[in-house]
Amino acid sequence: MKPEDSSVTFASLALAEPIQRALAEKNYTHPSPIQARAIPALLEGRDMIGIAQTGTGKTAAFALPILHRLAEANKPRVARRPRTLILTPTRELAVQIAENLALYGKHLPLKYTLVFGGVGEHPQIKALAAGVDIVVATPGRLLDLMQQNHCFLESIEVFVLDEADRMLDMGFAPSIKKIVSRLPSNRQSLLFSATMPESIREMTNKLLRNPVRVEVAPVSSTAERIEQRVCLVDKNKKYSLLLHILSQHKDGLALVFSRTKHGSNRLAQNLERDGLGADAIHGNKSQGARQRALEDFRTGNIRVLVATDIAARGIDVKGISLVINYDIPNEPESYVHRIGRTARAGATGIAISLCDDTERGFLRDIQRLIRKTIPVDNTHPFAPGGNGKVLTPDPANRPAPRPSAQPIHNRNPRNNPVDGQRPQNHLGRNSQQPSRSHGGHSAHGAQRPHRNDRPQRDGASAEARPAARGPRRPHADKPAAAQQPEQDKGFSGGFWRKGR
Ligand code: AMP
Repeated sequence: MKPEDSSVTFASLALAEPIQRALAEKNYTHPSPIQARAIPALLEGRDMIGIAQTGTGKTAAFALPILHRLAEANKPRVARRPRTLILTPTRELAVQIAENLALYGKHLPLKYTLVFGGVGEHPQIKALAAGVDIVVATPGRLLDLMQQNHCFLESIEVFVLDEADRMLDMGFAPSIKKIVSRLPSNRQSLLFSATMPESIREMTNKLLRNPVRVEVAPVSSTAERIEQRVCLVDKNKKYSLLLHILSQHKDGLALVFSRTKHGSNRLAQNLERDGLGADAIHGNKSQGARQRALEDFRTGNIRVLVATDIAARGIDVKGISLVINYDIPNEPESYVHRIGRTARAGATGIAISLCDDTERGFLRDIQRLIRKTIPVDNTHPFAPGGNGKVLTPDPANRPAPRPSAQPIHNRNPRNNPVDGQRPQNHLGRNSQQPSRSHGGHSAHGAQRPHRNDRPQRDGASAEARPAARGPRRPHADKPAAAQQPEQDKGFSGGFWRKGR
């Protein structure tokens, strides 16, 4: 990965020797910019808001200092009382983080466990009872186990919210509040993400104590190495265009995002029917099927993975050279995360968004967020009125920078023109497994989840809708009640950080 300052090497950071050895074995010589800036401050025990573009090494930025701290203190493990808690929005991301911890901590005698729903809880309970140093969890199952007195958070020294803005939005916030109310106040707290809307600032202030803000790229900026394009297309021609794009980009893996679970299933089935190896990953699938689809994609058994936003954040699969937004996301931050599944760790990638007439407002929101006009590719055979030219966006119609203090719920409702502009103008167009056990692993062997086909249980899936985010499109495949944020499961009250 490209270092910010090549004089900073991992060897020059004060990390314990077993960690340095693991990094050297992985051929990591230079910390990425977020690592170079975050690690020294985290080793000093500072709280942190860390913002860096997708794929730039945020996981190691928090994982390495945590491992160092745990290794140096070398305290005995206490049953049901872990010392570090890392929360993530999806189970797949939890698995990935645990694998990273196992890799970087392979020469350390530390233990971690994964805690998430959709799989049996007994192995997790057993692992917690045996004592672990680190818990990597999604909020729903963690709360379940806390309520049953299988996990206590009084001994937590380091608390991490990965994909922090997602964790603090209205879908997850009630669960996070309950969890945080059980943490000791003298903890170290870290928040990491590529996007951090102003609307969660108040919550972050309550969580953190005199935090260092490490921002190596402007918040919500997209990596330069991602070549972004938008293809305008009639809705009923999207599938033909998708096939066309996939036939033009035969190298590497392609990740296709679809808004709904049914939509992802349908797309994956159609792609299979048309001879492209494809599968779908979304929240209605069993955890086993989700992990299987991801693993088949990772290993190249399938070339195309169709996903809902459950796979938008954090997932690190080498070889994704193309991301296609079959539907334009209605949360602009999702765009940043979705396309961030390509061009990771210094690689390059292409992100193509298929935009029909009804989605132009979403596209405008995205461009405002990323402060960039996405070039329109009108050379494809399915362009409305296709004249075969690449249209250059008119800079005069570039969307205004996003007002930073504007809360999300006050944003312009999607699809409505901003400031009386015609919605199209900005485009420059004037058309209108961890094994069955999931836990108690030593850092010597990360395991993938067992292929357990039981239906998922944790309510706080990545597809839970943040309620405060203004008008939404209805989920085509989900009753309204199922889109509500996770229900209160217990602990009353409590505040973010007691006595701070
Ligand atoms: P992350 O943003 O944490 O998901 O990391 C993105 C990718 O970069 C992962 O594949 C990491 O293994 C890789 N990576 C992280 N840090 C480094 C580093 N210092 N040198 C080389 N690769 C790295």
